[in-house]
Amino acid sequence: MKIIEISLPLNNNTPVYPGNVPLSVSIHKKMPEYATTLSAISFGSHSGTHIDAPAHAVEGAATLDKIPLENFIGQCRVLDFSKETGEAVSKNFLESKKIQSGERVLLKTKNSVRGFKEFYDDYVYLDGDAADYLSSLAVTLVGIDSLSIKKRGGTDHRPHTSLLAKNIPIIEGLDLSKVAEGEYELICLPLNFTGIDGAPARAVLIEK
Ligand SMILES: [Zn+2]
Repeated sequence: MKIIEISLPLNNNTPVYPGNVPLSVSIHKKMPEYATTLSAISFGSHSGTHIDAPAHAVEGAATLDKIPLENFIGQCRVLDFSKETGEAVSKNFLESKKIQSGERVLLKTKNSVRGFKEFYDDYVYLDGDAADYLSSLAVTLVGIDSLSIKKRGGTDHRPHTSLLAKNIPIIEGLDLSKVAEGEYELICLPLNFTGIDGAPARAVLIEK
């Protein structure tokens, strides 16, 4: 079995979306007498690789702990948009992939090729019509390799709202640089915070 890491490493250099809570890790206490080190960690709910729950963009919608875990584990398909032109993953591209209802879909773009050393304003995102299309297909989950699925500063909120209003969770901040288009087994479990809009997650793919 080959397991591929697709989540971002978390440390003081992990880029965060501008305006979000900085990710900070430090030694809280060293207690040599007990052979113990304790770290202090502080982060926002949308740090690193993370899940957007419906409550992130839809008032009164489900919080993270209300999403069935079945959404996060199971067969998935990575779709490679990294060689396509265009600043957003388009409905046309998705239609060509013959996505079925209930699929888990991870979108690989040029973001994964460029890497995640810093935050770039011009990241590739999901187009609003494409989000409506995935929502209409009732997919189980959508993942993308950008810290937001929506255009930086964009006023078309459908990449969030269209999916989240249908209780389709979103994984943002994936690193798909080591992954080719194809079918995999996904395991992506957000930390078990209750009553909030999202949380960091560890995500891996299992190669078939
Ligand atoms: Zn998010």
